[in-house]
Amino acid sequence: MRVFKFGGASVKDAMAVKNVTKVLDITGYSDLLIVVSAMGKTTNALEQIVDSYLSKNPDLHELLIKLKKYHLNILDGLFKTRQPPVFVKVENLFVDLETTLARNKSTRYDYIYDQVVSFGELISTTIVSEYLNDVGYKNQWLDARELIKTDSSYRDAEVNWENTQKRIIEKVNKNNLSITQGFISSDENNFTTTLGREGSDYSAGIFAYCLSADSVSIWKDVPGVLNGDPRRFKDTQLLSHVSYSEAIELAFYGASVIHPKTIQPLQRKEIPLYVKSFLNPDTEGTSVKKGQPLDPYMPCYIVKKNQILISLSSLDFSFIVEDNISEIFSLFHQYHIKVDLIQNSAISFSVCLDDKFDHFEGLLVKLKAKFKVTYNTNVSLYTIRHFTEKAIQTLEKDKEILLKQITRETYQMVAKD
Ligand code: ADP
Ligand code: ASP
Ligand code: MG
Repeated sequence: MRVFKFGGASVKDAMAVKNVTKVLDITGYSDLLIVVSAMGKTTNALEQIVDSYLSKNPDLHELLIKLKKYHLNILDGLFKTRQPPVFVKVENLFVDLETTLARNKSTRYDYIYDQVVSFGELISTTIVSEYLNDVGYKNQWLDARELIKTDSSYRDAEVNWENTQKRIIEKVNKNNLSITQGFISSDENNFTTTLGREGSDYSAGIFAYCLSADSVSIWKDVPGVLNGDPRRFKDTQLLSHVSYSEAIELAFYGASVIHPKTIQPLQRKEIPLYVKSFLNPDTEGTSVKKGQPLDPYMPCYIVKKNQILISLSSLDFSFIVEDNISEIFSLFHQYHIKVDLIQNSAISFSVCLDDKFDHFEGLLVKLKAKFKVTYNTNVSLYTIRHFTEKAIQTLEKDKEILLKQITRETYQMVAKD
C-alpha cells in the first residue's frame, strides 16, 4: 500500500481539490492512505485567531467569520447545492472551534495553540473526504488523533512509536482508500497535540513507517526537489534522485520542500519517498531513496530566513570550553531553541539559532547573566551543499557576511538581509 500527502497549496481552492481526483486517476487509489494538510494558509489564519483570543482582541469574531467564509466558498465550488451533509459537518467543526475557545480555562499558549490550530486539518479532511465520496472515490475518514500518539510537548510533540504503530495497524485498512489529517496527533490524556509547523510530511512518514508502506508521495506545487527554492533562486534545476542522507541534510538546513523529520522513519524501512508535482502528476519528480547523494550532481542552495546570530564570550576572558558550552546547550534545549550552526574560538562562541517558538527574550536574560552577549536578529543562513568556487562567489556577491564556515561538502554563511 502507498501513502500520499497533499499539502496546503494542493487543496487551497475548489479547483485544487478537484485536481486531487486527476492525480488519483493516474495513480490508482485502491490501496491508499491520503494525508491532507489544512487548506491554503488556514494554519496562519488559525494562529492569528489564537493570538487574538489570548489578547482579547475584538477582531476575533471577524477572523472566525473570514475563515468560515473561505471554507464555505470552497464547498460552494465543489457541491451544486448546500444540501449535502458536509455543510453541516463543517458548520459543526466551526461551532466546536468556538466552543473550545469559550470553554478554555488554560493560559498555556502552546496547549491552546494545538487545540485551536488542529481545526484546519479537521476541516480540510472533512471537505476532501466528502467531496471524493460524492464524486465516486469511496473513502474512509480517519481521525489522526486516534492514530498518532505523542507526549504532551504541545506544538512540537514527540511520537510514542509503540502505541502509534499498534493503533495504526489496528485501524487503517490497507486495501482501502482512507483520508486522514497531517500535522495533528494526541497525548495520553487525549488532548490534541501537533507535530510542528509544516509537519504533515512527517505525518505521512509516520503512517508509512507503521504500515510498512511501499512508498510515500508528497504532492507539491513544484516539479520535485530542485537545487534551490525557485522562490528565492533563479534557474533552479530538478534533482531526479536524492539519497536519504542528502535529503535529511537539505531539509535540516532549510529546504522547506520536505519537512526534516520525514526522512528518518522512511530510511529505517527503506521506503522510497517521491516528491511530485500535483499540477503535472504524470511527470517523474524526485525520488528519495538509497543510493548516490544526488543525481544530477550539482551545488544545492538553501536559505533559512529570520535566524538569530549570537556570540558569547566570557566576562573575565576565561576560555569558552566544555563546561560553559554544555551549560549554553542545556539552555538552548530548555528554551526550545534550535541550533543551526556552531563556531567557537578560545574566548568566544557563536551560534546561529532558529527561534521557532519565540523564546529568545527569555534565553537572552539567562545568557546575559553569565556571558558578554552580542547578537543580530533577522539574519539569513545560506547553505550550499556540494559547493563550487563559482557558486560561492555568486552567492556572496553584495551580501554583508557575518560568519562563514566551510566543511568538505557544505559551505555556510550567515548574512544580513
Ligand atoms: P505544501 O503545500 O506541502 O505545504 P510547501 O509549500 O511546504 O508545500 O513546499 C513547497 C514549496 O517548497 C515550494 O513552493 C518551494 O517554494 C519550496 N522549496 C524550498 N526549497 C525547495 C527545493 N529545494 N525544491 C523545491 N521546492 C522548494
Ligand atoms: N497545516 C500545517 C502548517 O501549515 C501543517 C502542514 O501544512 O504541513 O504548518
Ligand atoms: Mg506546507
